[in-house]
Amino acid sequence: MKDNKVRIFDTTLRDGEQSPGATMNVEEKVMVARQLAKLGVDIIEAGFAFSSPGDFESVRRIALEVEGPVVCSLARAKAADINAAWNALKGAPKPRIHTFISTSDIHLKYQFKLTRQEAKRRAVEMVAYARGYVKDVEFSPMDASRSEVEYLCEVIEAVIAAGATTVNIPDTVGYALPHAFGALIKGIKDNVPNIAKAVISVHCHNDLGLAVANSLSAVIAGARQVECAINGIGERAGNTSLEEIVMILRTRKDALGFDTHIVTEQIYPASRLVSSVTGMMVQPNKAIVGDNAFAHESGIHQDGLLKEKTTYEIMTPESVGISRSTLVLGKHSGRHAFKIRLGELGYALEGDNLDKAFGRFKLLADKKKEVFDEDIEAIVQDEVLRVEIPDRFKLVRLYVSGGTDESPTAQVVMEVDGSEIKETGAGDGPIDAAYKTIAKITGTKSKLLKYSVNAITGGTDAQGEVTVRLQEGEHVVLGQGAHTDIIVASAKAYINALNRLEYKRKIKRENLV
Ligand code: MN
Repeated sequence: MKDNKVRIFDTTLRDGEQSPGATMNVEEKVMVARQLAKLGVDIIEAGFAFSSPGDFESVRRIALEVEGPVVCSLARAKAADINAAWNALKGAPKPRIHTFISTSDIHLKYQFKLTRQEAKRRAVEMVAYARGYVKDVEFSPMDASRSEVEYLCEVIEAVIAAGATTVNIPDTVGYALPHAFGALIKGIKDNVPNIAKAVISVHCHNDLGLAVANSLSAVIAGARQVECAINGIGERAGNTSLEEIVMILRTRKDALGFDTHIVTEQIYPASRLVSSVTGMMVQPNKAIVGDNAFAHESGIHQDGLLKEKTTYEIMTPESVGISRSTLVLGKHSGRHAFKIRLGELGYALEGDNLDKAFGRFKLLADKKKEVFDEDIEAIVQDEVLRVEIPDRFKLVRLYVSGGTDESPTAQVVMEVDGSEIKETGAGDGPIDAAYKTIAKITGTKSKLLKYSVNAITGGTDAQGEVTVRLQEGEHVVLGQGAHTDIIVASAKAYINALNRLEYKRKIKRENLV
């Protein structure tokens, strides 16, 4: 029987989180994992359990709480990593351990100081070791696309013999070309004698913009698992974009003949959710999920569409979960309508969390005529998702004055480690004054790399959403704040970023790698 099902392995929570600035807290990761389960991904790579207590906890929580997909943890080919992966995963009905070691001479010689034979032996030993815990073991020869093919095949054969059930071929540095990468997969299929005992997977990076093309070429050549991330986030230029590979397979099934288990209507909610929790905006012209992906501007195109949609539309926005619903949320909207809209944005809130968010929504709806999707996202960000980052710094009160003839000053009261501190300061503008005063209180040495403000909804009564990017040493963080007063939103964003910096430093201290 021909196997035409392509397994979707989502690494948004692992490789995706390695995008600079995309750190998610445990609550955010659990929320994303729930949406990935609704989306129907086959495998969720929930983290790298050994790398930090936060990652361990995320894997553990997702293993326990998220039903449906296989839950996977990454682990280097080391016993301590594999032990941590298993300890985090053991609550999962379907656990997978994903272990890896480099096979390229470049990595072995300069980074790991291992010979080929040593690397192969470690791979085999650690796959067997992981099999002692779970039946489902994935092995990745890191930098496979730059490894010598004969040696690569030898390693793959040996790890399958040791019990690997999936072998993943990474294009770690995004160097491969589609025809060559497809040929590599075909070569592995043709030359590894026991290859039929494992699923071939690929993991491509987008440094040359070819991650999706390389993955597709690999599928055509025989790969049956694609590792990908929502919105294509990941190290550097990112990973294969889940929404693109899935919609290619679906839209061009006529030519390709493959299927996935993805519930495509959940793609847009997943994209929105990941974008709002990571603070990484989706570019407007991004395929499938960008704001303009279904916007037709040309008169000729509009004319065609009005006569018959298929003239210019190869897939419908509804098929990826972009609703054309015009339901307006406002102060008369009830809990049910609010909950449905949350679901469309990727948030499956229940109980307490739903109550908290709904309470804030009602407060906002009293101030604004119409509450937009972005407002709702900002509410969930503030009320539900930030709980896991211990807020060392809290804004208690803020007062700024300024204007055409007055030099701007700010008065800020903050809570720092539980006690209140009051300061005043001046600046070039009201936001500068507020920021300088907050910096004085917190003693931060961070540098503001970027400040951007979005009137996230139209009208002068809009909620403003402020995003800042801060750097301190090796850490770069994003902070967000939303409020109808732009200066308050700015202060909240700055303080949020400062809390994230504290959090990153804490994770770094606890980090054992
Ligand atoms: Mn990667």
